[in-house]
Amino acid sequence: MVLDMKISKNISTYTFQRGAFLSLVDLLSSKIQDSAEGVLFLVDDYFSTRPLDLPHRSSQDLVFFVPTDEEPTTEFIDTLMVRIRKELKAHPGAVVGIGGGITLDTAKAISILLTNAGKAEDYQGWDLVRVPGIYKIGIPTISGTGAESSRTCVLINKAKNIKLGMNSHYSYFDHLILDLEFSATVPRQQFFYTGMDSYIHCVESLKGRFRHALADAYSHQTLTLCREVFSSGDMMADGNRELLMVASYFGGISIANTFVGVVHPISAGLSTVLGLHHCIANCIVMNVMEEFYPQEVAEFHEFLKRQEISLPLGITRQLSVDQFEDLYQSAIIHEKPLMNAFGADYKEILTREKVISIYKRM
Ligand code: NAD
Ligand code: ZN
Repeated sequence: MVLDMKISKNISTYTFQRGAFLSLVDLLSSKIQDSAEGVLFLVDDYFSTRPLDLPHRSSQDLVFFVPTDEEPTTEFIDTLMVRIRKELKAHPGAVVGIGGGITLDTAKAISILLTNAGKAEDYQGWDLVRVPGIYKIGIPTISGTGAESSRTCVLINKAKNIKLGMNSHYSYFDHLILDLEFSATVPRQQFFYTGMDSYIHCVESLKGRFRHALADAYSHQTLTLCREVFSSGDMMADGNRELLMVASYFGGISIANTFVGVVHPISAGLSTVLGLHHCIANCIVMNVMEEFYPQEVAEFHEFLKRQEISLPLGITRQLSVDQFEDLYQSAIIHEKPLMNAFGADYKEILTREKVISIYKRM
């Protein structure tokens, strides 16, 4: 099966080194010529109570802590934009996102909306962003989603009951700072769930119909790195955190050039209907995917055992018929990944009964 011809893009520049965060100050000085121009920092709220030495350049600098109890919604982004516009006197010289996928996606969306009029939902979809956003720097503090290297920022739209990104070349960060120091403080369970996103992205990509040699190369390398990390004695040892940081980066590139498969649409249902976060939802779905990805699910179970990680069980036990219907609807809407997994007739394989029976096993 052949998709439309796509122009690929990578992150233009990045700094990869332990302690690389310290280079932020010089990077901002070299990028922002006007010393009065401010920097808009969007920082994971984990750091609101911890020391984080942000460079201070001008009185126009603004820092917003991004809450991570809920994944970003279009409503949240629009409300944040109103606050930012009120406090900013002029466009900032740069937007800097420091945190996990929630914060990185928030930074991408804000950078885009500062130069593209309208609301967040106007740009949910493919190639709808009209002009480049503000120069943006991404600093991931946890590894796995690939949000640092992907061409999207994922937002939940509650009114439309969908989880959909702003898929655009303008969603890429302009520069990344990859510093392994950050991930040392991530709680173990979270480290596993988020790390598994890299693994799952690449399993889905490699099992898809739209795979190709370039994406495959990134996916294979991502899986190799994930296997090394999650089969080892301590997934959070320094060396492993560094490998997972690279796996996440490669996984994001792979998925920017292909599509996910069955896990992500079903997981998106759990996020939209039950409010579960992306990475834990993926793991809950992966746990019952043996029909579609048998070897990989067996390997996933090995990783869980090796790292002594447990998954919540029985999460759909109390749901009503209507809620199962909502889950089905919010999964089946993801046409592209499902076509990637099953072909154009995906609804014949993934029938309503099949999808609901999968949800019932969680
Ligand atoms: P997250 O942003 O959900 O954060 C998870 C938790 O880890 C939060 O409590 C956060 O405060 C904490 N945390 C982050 N860094 C920490 C650190 N260094 N020490 C201690 N705690 C830390 O993390 P995530 O799993 O990376 O991101 C999930 C989000 O990413 C979802 O919103 C999902 O939709 C999105 N996502 C985006 C893409 C993309 O391509 N843009 C791909 C996959 C997922
Ligand atoms: Zn994912």
